[in-house]
Amino acid sequence: MQITFIGATHEVTGSCTLLEVGGKNILVDCGMEQGADIFENIEIPVAPAYIDAVVLTHAHIDHTGKLPFLVANGYRGPVYSTEATRQLCDIMLRDSAHIQEFEATWRNRKGKRADDEEYVPLYTTEDVLKTMPLFRTAGYDTEVTLFDGVTIRYIDAGHLLGSANVLFTIREGDIKRTLLFSGDLGNVDKPLIRSPQDPPQADYVVCESTYGDRVHPEKPDYVKQLTNIIQTTLDRGGNLVVPAFAVGRTQEFLYYIRIIKEEGLIKGHDGFPVYVDSPLAVEATNIYSTEMYEYYDDDALQLLREGINPVTFPDLEVTVSSEESMAINSDPEPKIIISASGMCEAGRIRHHLKHNLWRPECTILFIGYQSPGTVGGKLLDGADMVKLFGEEIAVKAEILRIDSFSSHADEPHLCEWVKKTDPGVRIFINHGEDAVTEKFAAEVAAATGKPAVAPYSGEVWDLATDELIQRAEIVPVVKKTVHEGRTDHVTDHRFEQYASPALRELRRSGAELTQLIEASRECSNKELNKMRREIEEIIKKYGPQEGTDGQ
Ligand SMILES: [Zn+2]
Ligand SMILES: [Zn+2]
Repeated sequence: MQITFIGATHEVTGSCTLLEVGGKNILVDCGMEQGADIFENIEIPVAPAYIDAVVLTHAHIDHTGKLPFLVANGYRGPVYSTEATRQLCDIMLRDSAHIQEFEATWRNRKGKRADDEEYVPLYTTEDVLKTMPLFRTAGYDTEVTLFDGVTIRYIDAGHLLGSANVLFTIREGDIKRTLLFSGDLGNVDKPLIRSPQDPPQADYVVCESTYGDRVHPEKPDYVKQLTNIIQTTLDRGGNLVVPAFAVGRTQEFLYYIRIIKEEGLIKGHDGFPVYVDSPLAVEATNIYSTEMYEYYDDDALQLLREGINPVTFPDLEVTVSSEESMAINSDPEPKIIISASGMCEAGRIRHHLKHNLWRPECTILFIGYQSPGTVGGKLLDGADMVKLFGEEIAVKAEILRIDSFSSHADEPHLCEWVKKTDPGVRIFINHGEDAVTEKFAAEVAAATGKPAVAPYSGEVWDLATDELIQRAEIVPVVKKTVHEGRTDHVTDHRFEQYASPALRELRRSGAELTQLIEASRECSNKELNKMRREIEEIIKKYGPQEGTDGQ
């Protein structure tokens, strides 16, 4: 029984871990890398056709986004998750495929003119359609048998609808171990979903550390803050534009707007319209609205019992077609417009910014984290101008933010959670920024009295003996050229994943060569030297020529 760390290792995204038990290969999460990374991940060391099961902690793309890629490459086994995770994956993976198909079409149109090789998307909608029937769902706190000697149990992680910590019980002969994966651990007192549930005891704990170095500020009075912002904006005759992540954040925001409307807190603008303008957000809101009893917290359940849908209200307009979307800005009535993407890097929000940013009566309200350098980040930094659709737009609208809508536990809560797991053997820290993982591991070790490590991609541990059996080779990501004019939600690292089939094959050969070198310990010096000379020949032949900078 062993564990191999693949993704979200000393970085925040691309969650993926391999468990090997009794000859079975089990992946825990299969996430896409998003945003800038600093280390390369190893390839999954088992061909997709030889993976026996995938277990998902929750639906976010950084935990599920490469699943259709696995299926496209031969995976046919079951995908275990909660029912809400399955439903959210259905819409989010289709959205992800759509973005990639769109990207491929755009690049191939450009590439044709430059006579470039055809650009293949990571996966297509068809791959997602092949993926969805593989799901096997179960509720929280129910034991699910994956194989002889391997069972799992989901515990509510309080991070997103359907999110789970997953407890594995694994057996090989007389040896039994328990392993608890935190997935992403939720913040406390979020609307709609429960706070994270107390974790069970486990021998090994794999814990995220996204906010492993931060303490969330005290929770503000959202209803009061929002009421003020809405009242001021509507009184000025402007629109309130809210860039929001389509799944989770949008529904939380709707929850507060419903309260404000119900309590009649906005004066003089009866029935002010609220638009959700993002096909993905609309689909997600529909999922939140249907029989999610198992996942809601007590407040939301009470509302449901009273016949109230917690995320909808009479003046809510949802738009799906692009014609409907365009009509929103031609109507002068002051309104709230909620749209994606959350950091304004793609999607319809960009149209709404174009129509509203230059109007001093309008407000742009940020409710989520904005990466520096994104359109959202620039606006929060006080930019006077931003470029949208090739046009410079003056920033005259009021730019505001409400903090701590975070869906992740902060450092004290993460540490408390690990302590409650009463780790019997060891703690692994993943899903955090490089330095944060190390720092948080030290803190957790001090708090629990058990060893804690932050593994790099490629590290392998024996779970029966608690021994490190393979150290990771730390490979920094080489900065890639940013292609001008591309839809900029696609990060540098994702370009890496969009490598042509020929480049992927070449990489595979490169990885085999590394393995061959590792396996050559027994060879004679003569043989080793011969091999080295031949490799050096290849490097000389294909490597950067003198006088170039290797770009
Ligand atoms: Zn997440
Ligand atoms: Zn995550």
